[in-house]
Amino acid sequence: MSKKKKRHRTGNGNVVLYLLPQGVNPAEHNYIAKQLRLIASGVLDVPAGEVAEVLVYHDDGCPLLSGGTCRCDPDFRLVRRA
Ligand SMILES: [Zn+2]
Repeated sequence: MSKKKKRHRTGNGNVVLYLLPQGVNPAEHNYIAKQLRLIASGVLDVPAGEVAEVLVYHDDGCPLLSGGTCRCDPDFRLVRRA
């Protein structure tokens, strides 16, 4: 599956780069919208020059887990790399 790079500039000036399958509209998925809100508000904060992964915990019944669109209210955990 090919991936398409997307960039999003948050309200605090940070640029977030994320990968999505071709043809996916990030605005349709709750987990992407929530993640961008948390980054913009500083809850998910990665200092400049650092790289981190975000683990996304979807609800058991989230349609994304069966190939659909995320409609749940997922939890996130930031994992920093040393
Ligand atoms: Zn979900």
